[in-house]
Amino acid sequence: MSDIALLPSVSQFLGRDHGLYIDGGYVACSTTAKLKVINPANGEVIAQVSDAGQSDIDCAVNSANLGFKIWSKTSPAARAAVLFKLADLLEQNREELAQIETCQSGKIIHIARAFEVDQAAHFLRYYAGWATKITGETITPSLPSFAGERYTAFTLREPVGVVVGIVPWNFSTMIAIWKLASALTTGCSIIIKPSEFTPLTILRIAELASEAGLPPGALNVLTGSGLVGKALIEHPGTDKVSFTGSVPTGIAVGKGAMDAKLTRATLELGGKNSVGFLRDIDLDKAADGIIEAGFLHSGQICAAAERFFAHRSQIEPIMEKLSQRLASLKIGSPLDEATQFGPVTNKQHQQKLAGFFETARSENSTIVYGGKLIEGPGCYVEPTIILANSINDTLLNEETFGPIATFFPYDTEEELLHLMNNTPYGLSASLWTNDLSKALRLVPEIQAGTVWVNMHTMLDPAVPFGGIKSSGIGREFGSAFIDDYTELKSVMIRY
Ligand code: NAD
Repeated sequence: MSDIALLPSVSQFLGRDHGLYIDGGYVACSTTAKLKVINPANGEVIAQVSDAGQSDIDCAVNSANLGFKIWSKTSPAARAAVLFKLADLLEQNREELAQIETCQSGKIIHIARAFEVDQAAHFLRYYAGWATKITGETITPSLPSFAGERYTAFTLREPVGVVVGIVPWNFSTMIAIWKLASALTTGCSIIIKPSEFTPLTILRIAELASEAGLPPGALNVLTGSGLVGKALIEHPGTDKVSFTGSVPTGIAVGKGAMDAKLTRATLELGGKNSVGFLRDIDLDKAADGIIEAGFLHSGQICAAAERFFAHRSQIEPIMEKLSQRLASLKIGSPLDEATQFGPVTNKQHQQKLAGFFETARSENSTIVYGGKLIEGPGCYVEPTIILANSINDTLLNEETFGPIATFFPYDTEEELLHLMNNTPYGLSASLWTNDLSKALRLVPEIQAGTVWVNMHTMLDPAVPFGGIKSSGIGREFGSAFIDDYTELKSVMIRY
C-alpha cells in the first residue's frame, strides 16, 4: 500500500499564510513571529502559523466579550441549531479535516477520520442537545412570616462568560470540540489556544463554525506558544479557563488562574493509568485488551494505560502474547491506510521517550519487546513492553505518554489494589475479569475518575470524564460539565 493522495483543498489550506481567527474571520497577526508546523511522519515543515502578541490577545478578548453579549442572549434552541449545523459541516468536510490532522499530528488516517472527525461530530451533537435542557430549581424558603407574607425562590444557570480553552496536541480536534461545545451550548463565548505543535485543524473548524451561523466573536482562535495561553488566563476580560494538558502545566495554569482574579478553572490533566488483570482472565483477551488500553495512537491518549498488573503466574504468558501482537503491527506512514502504528507527534516527545528507555535500562528493568527509536526522519518509536524491577521504577511512576506498557506482578488481590492506587494520579483504570460480581466489589476501591471493566480508553459524551487526585479538577461530558460553565444565581421573592 502507499499514501493516499492529499485533497487539493488540504494542500491549499496548508500553503496559506495563516492569520489569527478573530471576530468571524482571519486577521493578520501583530507580530511577525511564526511557528513551524512539522509533519512528524517525515520531519517536513507543512505550514507556518502566527504567534499571537499582546495586542492580538487584547483584540480577541474584546471580540469574545462582544460575541458573548450576542451569543448569551441567543435562544437555547437557536444555539443548538448552530452546533448541529457545525456537526453536519464537520462530517461534510470529513476527509479534508482528517488529512490536515494526520499531516500535523502523525495520527493514522483511520483514527483521524473515526475519532477526530466522526466522534467530534457525535460529541458536538450530544452537547448541542443540552442547550435547551439547562435548568435551575424552585425552592420554598422557610423565612418567618409576620404579616402573612410568603416567599419563593428559584435558581438560574447563567453562562460564566468568556472561556479560554487550552488544548494539547494529542487530540487537537476532538478536545477543542469538547471545549467549544461546552462553552457554546451554555451560552459562553470561547477563545481556543491550540497546541503549538497541532494548531491547524481548529483554524479550519473556526471557518466552518462561521459558516454554521456562529456570530462573530463567539469563537476566536489564537495560535501561539504557552505564553499566549497564560496571558489569556490572566487577562481581565476572561472569566474561565478550561485546560487540558500535562500535570506540571496544569498546576501552573491553576495557580495563575487563582492568582489573577479567581478565574474559574477546569483542569483535565495527565495520569499514570492502571490495568488490573484478575486471575480468571483469558490470556488472549488480556493481550487484546492491552493493545486497546496502551497502544492506540501510539499511547498518546490521556486515558491510556501505562501500568499493567497481572498475577505472577500469568505475567510471562501475557507479555509473550502481547509481544506476538506487537510484532504483527504494521508500522508506517500515517497516510497509508494499511498502517496500524504511526509516529509520535513531535521530535521533543520522541526524545523524551528515548530518555525513558535509557532510564528503564539504568534501573535494571527488563525490556521485553522494543525499547528503541526507529531510525529515519520521522518521529517513530518502537512499541515497547517493559517488566519493572521494583515498584519504585520510574517507568511505573512517571507518565510516558507513549507506546510503552510497563508490567509488574501481584500475588493477592489486596496487593493488586495497592499497586493500582499507589500513584499521585487518578484519571482512569480498568479491571479485566469474567467475575462481574467481584469486579463491582473492587470498583469502589479503585482511585480513578473513570473505572472500566473489560474495556479501556473509550469515552462517551453521556458519561462524565475527569480526574481525581493530581489528574485534575472538574468533569467534562454528561450533565456534569454544566456546573463548570455556568454560575448559579439565586433569586428570592417576597409576595
Ligand atoms: P502541555 O501541558 O505541554 O500543553 C498543553 C497546552 O498548554 C498547550 O496548548 C500549551 O501551549 C499550553 N501551555 C503551555 N504552558 C502554558 C501556560 N503556562 N499557561 C497556559 N497554557 C500553557 O501538554 P501537551 O504536551 O500538549 O499534552 C500532553 C499532556 O496532556 C499529557 O500529560 C496528557 O496526559 C495530557 N492530556 C490530558 C487529557 C485529559 O482529558 N485529562 C487529555 C489529553 C491530554
